[in-house]
Amino acid sequence: MEADGSRMYQGSTSLTERTVIPVTDPGAQYLALRPQIDAAIRRVLDRGYYILGPEVEAFEGEFATYIGTKFAIGVANGTDALSLALRALSIGPGDEVITVSHTAVATVAAIEQSGAIPVLVDVEPGFLTLDPALLNEALTDRTRAVVPVHLYGQAADIPRIQSFCRNHGLALVEDVSQAHGATWGQARLGSFGDISIFSCYPTKNLGALGDAGIVVTNDLALANRVRRLRQYGWVDRNSSTEPGVNSRLDELQAAVLRVKLEHLDANNDQRRRIATSYSEAFRGLGIEVPEVREGAESVFHLYVAQVDNRDSLRNRLDTAGVQTAIHYPMPIHRQPGYLGRVRTIGSMSVTDHAAGRIVSLPMFPELPEENVNLVIQSLAGVYSGYLRDRESNSG
Ligand SMILES: *Cc1c(COP(=O)(O)O)cnc(C)c1O
Repeated sequence: MEADGSRMYQGSTSLTERTVIPVTDPGAQYLALRPQIDAAIRRVLDRGYYILGPEVEAFEGEFATYIGTKFAIGVANGTDALSLALRALSIGPGDEVITVSHTAVATVAAIEQSGAIPVLVDVEPGFLTLDPALLNEALTDRTRAVVPVHLYGQAADIPRIQSFCRNHGLALVEDVSQAHGATWGQARLGSFGDISIFSCYPTKNLGALGDAGIVVTNDLALANRVRRLRQYGWVDRNSSTEPGVNSRLDELQAAVLRVKLEHLDANNDQRRRIATSYSEAFRGLGIEVPEVREGAESVFHLYVAQVDNRDSLRNRLDTAGVQTAIHYPMPIHRQPGYLGRVRTIGSMSVTDHAAGRIVSLPMFPELPEENVNLVIQSLAGVYSGYLRDRESNSG
């Protein structure tokens, strides 16, 4: 069968044909929306307009409306989105930008790409997002912006970070790459920042079938500047007013993203349902489940539990056909490529401690209920094994 054949590489089945449940499965989302996505792709191919055309323009309008900002600008990927957002704010060499070490390396790579120095602070223990209590210590006369990361689908403490930025004249730039559609109060994440950014890497909650990124803002001047920077600094085809880059979004990706945007809320609901099932079952096993902030709605980009015996747990789950991952095993201040290039504030003990205990379990909207139950049963089996081991060791 064609559909099964095209999914073999996703690791849905192993050589022994037993079920393997992956952590994420972008191919499953394509299959779920195949007629609409194929029609959108066909429309682009037939039109013969392939980069920064009507699909990109329509998507930018639809996404801005969805987030609740005046403007959205499509770019090539999330890393570019953040570095261009910083450049549009005139942030560059000599400036400092505060963010976290517990994030995708892309966040810090983007700050470096802008020319600014990344200053990394620790995260809050339960939520694992930027700890606003540490901002004051990180502040210098070169600080220009704070980049909170809404990690795993969960909001950072936006009100406290926003008021710190206002009090100190800093730009607030949200990295919403893991939280498309998540809210704080009535508003969507991405609408709080002076300018905010999204990655649409295929595994993200709103994922393209390739690379894509988005910048959103309410500020016309910033929006126009990102539009210029994404294409050689062009104001029109004959003049560049400042040096820019090539970070365009293509029509195929925009057309696919328009289809997926229509399903984003339903897919996020489905992620929350799976998270609820997991958390209810795991609490009984004594597993530390993700804490959800009061008044904020997570979109569970990842479901990240914290455990003591992680390596043995992962091995046993793997044997049971349940794949797991670690986001992220090595904080950025410990990555060889960034040593000595980033400044860290304080002990980073929460970040370092979490890095040894976090484990990401299968989480994607198309994960069938029976597989959710299989994950739960496998974990329960592993934990009853631990209990037996402990009893026989102590007896
Ligand atoms: C995925 C991601 C990015 C950007 O990724 P790209 O691969 O450049 O699209 C940035 N920040 C975070 C937190 C991410 O998860």
